[in-house]
Amino acid sequence: MEIWPYSAGVGIGTGLVHLILFLILLFRRGKEAREKLALAYLGFSLAWIASVALADLQAIFLPVVTESAGALIPVLTVALATGYLTCIALFLEYPFWPVVATAGFTWTAILLVATGYFLLVPPSLLPLDRIGTGSWVAFSLGTIVALTVDLFRSRMAFRRNRALYWLLTANAVLAGQALTLLPLGPLRIVGPLVHAAGAIALLRGVLSFWLPSVKAALRSIFRFLFLFAVTAALLAGVVLAAERLTAIWTVPSTTLVILLAVGVAMGYLPLYQALVRLVDRLLVGVGFDPAQTLRDYSQTISTVLDLEQLARTAVQTVAQVLDVRRGALLIASETERGSLVLRPVPALGEIPTDPIELEPISPLLVRLKEQDAPLFQYEVEHHPVLKEALPREREGLRALEMEIYLPIRAEGELAGLLALGPQRTGEPYAPRIVEFLSTLAHQTGVALQNARLFAGLQELNARIMQLNESLRTAYERLERLDRAKSDFLSIASHELRTPLTQIRGYTDVLSELAQSDTLTQEQIVRITENISRPVRRLERIINAMLDASMLETGMSFHFAPTTLAGIIRAAVEPWQDVLQERRLTLTTSGLDSIPLIRADMERLVQAFSNLISNAIKFTPDGGRITIEARPLDEEHFEVTVSDTGIGISKLDQELIFEKFYRVGSIDLHSSGEYKFKGGGPGLGLSIARGVIEGHGGCIWVESEGYDEERCPGSTFHVVLPYHAHRGPCRWKRPGQEG
Ligand code: ADP
Repeated sequence: MEIWPYSAGVGIGTGLVHLILFLILLFRRGKEAREKLALAYLGFSLAWIASVALADLQAIFLPVVTESAGALIPVLTVALATGYLTCIALFLEYPFWPVVATAGFTWTAILLVATGYFLLVPPSLLPLDRIGTGSWVAFSLGTIVALTVDLFRSRMAFRRNRALYWLLTANAVLAGQALTLLPLGPLRIVGPLVHAAGAIALLRGVLSFWLPSVKAALRSIFRFLFLFAVTAALLAGVVLAAERLTAIWTVPSTTLVILLAVGVAMGYLPLYQALVRLVDRLLVGVGFDPAQTLRDYSQTISTVLDLEQLARTAVQTVAQVLDVRRGALLIASETERGSLVLRPVPALGEIPTDPIELEPISPLLVRLKEQDAPLFQYEVEHHPVLKEALPREREGLRALEMEIYLPIRAEGELAGLLALGPQRTGEPYAPRIVEFLSTLAHQTGVALQNARLFAGLQELNARIMQLNESLRTAYERLERLDRAKSDFLSIASHELRTPLTQIRGYTDVLSELAQSDTLTQEQIVRITENISRPVRRLERIINAMLDASMLETGMSFHFAPTTLAGIIRAAVEPWQDVLQERRLTLTTSGLDSIPLIRADMERLVQAFSNLISNAIKFTPDGGRITIEARPLDEEHFEVTVSDTGIGISKLDQELIFEKFYRVGSIDLHSSGEYKFKGGGPGLGLSIARGVIEGHGGCIWVESEGYDEERCPGSTFHVVLPYHAHRGPCRWKRPGQEG
């Protein structure tokens, strides 16, 4: 029997199939690199099919044509294998695909030239067909190895499906090529036929982003075959049973067949459904009732108010029915800029909690906002549009190692994502499962909204408590200041009465002596001296009160060039006698390191004098007082006045600079003006602060705390500008905010 008409028919048919595929790609607009490569591959395929067909059509063409076409088959097959390997290397994003292409096509060109040469100048000196076949084997093996490595490397189900798809396609394509290399004679045309199936799959793979699930397709075939076999066996059983029963029973065969048919029909439908469920459970592993699961789920989450618990409940519900390894809730919050921050709340597996920020124009954000459909990690990695997202965004999602993200919406807005890792079976999420998960995510919206509101309330509560605390502190502070003001009345009357009593006592003595006419010149001098001391004290107190009253209205300053050494000398001078009396050592250092300054000397003498008088008052007899100066920066210098006194508690360190504030109860102050813990009207430090700040400087105190036994001491820091100025201090204390 002549086989060539059939092989010619097959050849033309497969050639047409390839031509159609070629044209589809050719007329596609805006072709991507992989589409161009596939187009080139289909072009080679057409030439190859033509030579296979020509080689077999001995009856029509001259022997020389058929022989030349036959000699070209190995070379063209090598070109195909090279082209296919290049395509695969490009699809799998192997960076070395240009090397593969260059090496393969150079080799093909060499083979082509050699074949052409030996065709023109026979006989052939080289076994070109065997060399061609050998290099075809090498390139085909390369393809299979590349695809197998990719299959094992892909952890995400969709990626693995893609690798599996390409592996199966490669098998068809390579089998097609191989068949033309075997010595099959006219039967070689079967090769292009098989290749056509591979080429269709190739075109589908190149053109569509989503590939059909290979495992699901195989499973469908298996399910069909299984159910077909069961149904066929059942029908055969009925026919056989009818045959046997007509022999035994006397019922007419038609009646029997009808009875059997009705009986089987009644049992068949439930049996069929049970079988479908059984096969699904065995093959797909979906042995749960989605409706029931969703009902239970929505009941459970209706009472959940905690974000972590909500995440756990959602992911565990999924894990119970689907066997996933990882899961989290990604809580979405929009920033003022319009970007979206996804904060992972881990529920299952080790999941990084770093927030992922999606820029306002991120294609990922646009996709999530505009489409309600679930997002797959596979899309993030391979979708031509989503691939354009910032590497930081894609890296953030990749680090989560999830496979699917299901949008959770509340009041129409994206409130979060339910993120799930790959299934343990390694299968992609089937459409049915995706539908179930989407409904589950949908149901989570309200609960997520509630949990977020609750978390917001808790945060608000914490803030209110914090505010309460600062209110309490402020209240305590005001209370202390208030107490200080009421104390002032008793202090002032006490401070004023003491010198007044002394004056009155001496004037009484004076008038008595004057009446008795016994007053000597010497007595007059002594008594007037005794009177003038309390008068001076009175004067000081009244002056201090006047100065303090000026603190609000603004002190006047007269800035002029002066030296720090001169100021300190003038401030220390009046205290020399008291220092000696109390056996206190006062040392100064670094004063001369400060060059000429511009300040109000009189006011600064007053301020430092107040600090020195306090150091004297609050340091036990025999203690030490140190005054040190040092430059700070180009604009400022610092003077510290330290003592070895009783110290100041942290609580009081700010309050003592307030008017009328004195530490502790007023009864504790001794009446002696410069004795240890001597009393005062509580104005010295507020005046000192007014003076220093009036120079554009600042003052503060440091002390370990108040302890009369240990005497930890206090250090008053004064920072002043070399050139006094109005306005706030420009120097910032280390650790000070602002
Ligand atoms: P007063 O006129 O009563 O001394 P001040 O304003 O000068 O008022 O000081 C306020 C309070 O700060 C003092 O009553 C004292 O309790 C505390 N104080 C000031 N300087 C010192 C210091 N060097 N050591 C310990 N306590 C101090």
